[in-house]
Amino acid sequence: MTPRLPPQSQTLVEQKLLPWFVENARDLPWRRNRNPYAVWISETMLQQTRVDTVIPYFNRWMEAFPDCQALAGAEQGQVLKLWEGLGYYARARNLHAAAQQVVENFDGILPSDPFALLSLKGIGPYTLAAIMSLAFNQSYAVLDGNVERVLARFCAMGEDIRKPQVKKGLQTMATRLLGAHPPGMFNEAMMELGATVCTPGVPQCGKCPLSPACRGFKTGSPADFPYKSKKKPIPTVKVGAAVVWKDARTFLIAQRKQNEMLGGLWEFPGGKVEAGESMAECIARELEEELGIQVVVGDELIKVRHSYTHFHLRMNVHHCQWQGDSPQIIDCADFRWVTLEDCRALPFSRADLKVLDELTRTRTD
Ligand code: SF4
Repeated sequence: MTPRLPPQSQTLVEQKLLPWFVENARDLPWRRNRNPYAVWISETMLQQTRVDTVIPYFNRWMEAFPDCQALAGAEQGQVLKLWEGLGYYARARNLHAAAQQVVENFDGILPSDPFALLSLKGIGPYTLAAIMSLAFNQSYAVLDGNVERVLARFCAMGEDIRKPQVKKGLQTMATRLLGAHPPGMFNEAMMELGATVCTPGVPQCGKCPLSPACRGFKTGSPADFPYKSKKKPIPTVKVGAAVVWKDARTFLIAQRKQNEMLGGLWEFPGGKVEAGESMAECIARELEEELGIQVVVGDELIKVRHSYTHFHLRMNVHHCQWQGDSPQIIDCADFRWVTLEDCRALPFSRADLKVLDELTRTRTD
């Protein structure tokens, strides 16, 4: 059941929340020009990512791809390079594919029809609500992590926020609270409140425009909301990877397949260590399976530690001596012999960028 909003909520939004937002909104690059394309790009980048991290990425992106035509006409490698380090790379691949759909089907202009928007790759309910409200001022309530937290505290909702039916209830609450208020401003005000005042740690209720009616505040322990059940422990995945040298400057990299995690990015070839396998055995087997080459596995270059949402990566990277067979595309999208210089123009994951840094450091020492 959807919890009821506290009495006077609508009045509070009109008289306190919206004026508070006008007064306190941060000056962010995507707020300076609210065109639909910029809204789409910024809202996609902001999913699962902090504002401070997104700002330089957004600025570089808008300079390189100022509109759908520019994005649609770019090479995928250029798009991924500009996204490098931002994570969740499917977002970048989908933006690129969707821009091509927009050019092909909508004359290069992002449509304002919700069904047309939902036909674009990567646009789901959240991005739809953001574009419809922020760019087209239509009555759609946005529910991101910040808004969920504000609403759960505002109503002192004790149910587990991870449950789909609880999220559905929060969406209904957000829509009710939006009412007839200006949709773009309301959504931005709620997101801003969650990002700057009703923050995950200790909420600053003394500064909050919603505090006169907030049930969480009245309990005296607003930080107890929302309740989140514990996540399952994240597994650790051990991986072996190789720097296969052709000569003193040239080594082998492989491109990941489009349909897998980090698809389209370049990497040092390798893969998961199987049960009972040594690191050297794993690397030799992976190179044979992925590229059809044989190597002699040599010294370790670096141990890389990196955490993704669903697993912790433990990757050991070794120098390898190439035995001379020509690489083939077997279990990868492509391969190249490159120098460190060549790698600057290609997109890599954060884990592989650490390997490149280490190679750069050891080669210039
Ligand atoms: S009063 Fe406190 S708990 Fe309630 S919405 Fe504002 S900051 Fe969050």
